[in-house]
Amino acid sequence: MALRKKALDAAILSNRRVGTEIYRLEINCPFLTQEGVPGQFIQVRIDGMGLLLRRPLGIAEAYSATGTVAMYYRIVGKGTAALAEMKPGQTVNCLGPLGKGFSLQAERPLLIGGGMGIAPLLFLAQRFQGKAAVLMGGRNKAEVFWSDFFAPAAKEVFITTDDGSAGEKGFTTALLPTLLEKYRFDVLFTCGPDIMMRKIWEIADKADVPCQVSLERHMACGLGACLSCAIDTADGGRKKVCQDGPVFWAQEVF
Ligand SMILES: Cc1cc2nc3c(=O)[nH]c(=O)nc-3n(C[C@H](O)[C@H](O)[C@H](O)COP(=O)(O)OP(=O)(O)OC[C@H]3O[C@@H](n4cnc5c(N)ncnc54)[C@H](O)[C@@H]3O)c2cc1C
Repeated sequence: MALRKKALDAAILSNRRVGTEIYRLEINCPFLTQEGVPGQFIQVRIDGMGLLLRRPLGIAEAYSATGTVAMYYRIVGKGTAALAEMKPGQTVNCLGPLGKGFSLQAERPLLIGGGMGIAPLLFLAQRFQGKAAVLMGGRNKAEVFWSDFFAPAAKEVFITTDDGSAGEKGFTTALLPTLLEKYRFDVLFTCGPDIMMRKIWEIADKADVPCQVSLERHMACGLGACLSCAIDTADGGRKKVCQDGPVFWAQEVF
């Protein structure tokens, strides 16, 4: 069944800094709260900066009761820098929801995020309604500020930092085998740097635990037309991250 998508002007309700160079953008868009599922993304048009292309951002929170959606973004270039200047009351045009989201069949889900890949897992944790555990990794304590956001939605939150300033010292992949052994998770859901997700998949595969990965690629249209996000798949085929993904079963793409 084709999912519904629309381009709509959405009023900005708040746009505030929550971490180093990281912002939370909250918009009013009841349509996206009704149609969006975890893992899907929105193509945001940032007007007035001469930017031709929309910028893709994952849906990180969606509340149908209030019609509000939140996205988290890191300032990396001119689009995200311009977005950070936008104020409540202004509008952004949002095209979405786009792509295929996570398959939610799991009894003991473990969500594993690294860097900005942690953001879309928040929506997933909320949909699992207290059933999911979360493992998040960052370089230092400042990068894992997300734990407070996850606490109401997650069963447990495990943290690793490269420098040991919060949680266990090391990468998420160092802690994962112990967690799999101890908690018997039945599906892993991961979003973050490719290198992290590949290693997670290797560990999951050895432990015979299925794993879904959310890929991030440069994309222009987000609608499957421009092919700029096409990737090679494990079976020798090609897939479009924007339309066939961004969520895939790990064995399809790694
Ligand atoms: C499906 C999807 C979901 C995403 N969700 C989020 C999210 O929730 N939060 C978030 O902060 N970011 C997210 N991103 C990345 C985000 O779209 C880019 O950071 C943003 O478009 C950069 O725009 P810009 O104009 O600020 O930077 P630009 O000026 O366009 O680029 C600045 C730098 O960032 C790099 N860059 C731009 N886009 C990407 C990309 N897609 N992948 C890797 N590097 C890129 C460029 O190569 C360049 O080095 C997502 C990307 C995709 C494909």
